[in-house]
Amino acid sequence: MTPTLTRPELTAADRCDRCGAAARVRAILPSGGELLFCGHHAREHQGKLRELAAELQEG
Ligand SMILES: [Zn+2]
Repeated sequence: MTPTLTRPELTAADRCDRCGAAARVRAILPSGGELLFCGHHAREHQGKLRELAAELQEG
């Protein structure tokens, strides 16, 4: 269990960037940016995130 990037775990204070629900997944972009998604939006954007080679971390 050695993540390539050290990020704090998602907490109840982390919110989905799309709808404001509690975040369940963090998507780390190759550029270093990150996006937070609830379960619903993580699934919805999963295909696009794969295209972008984002690293998905479930919290
Ligand atoms: Zn959402």
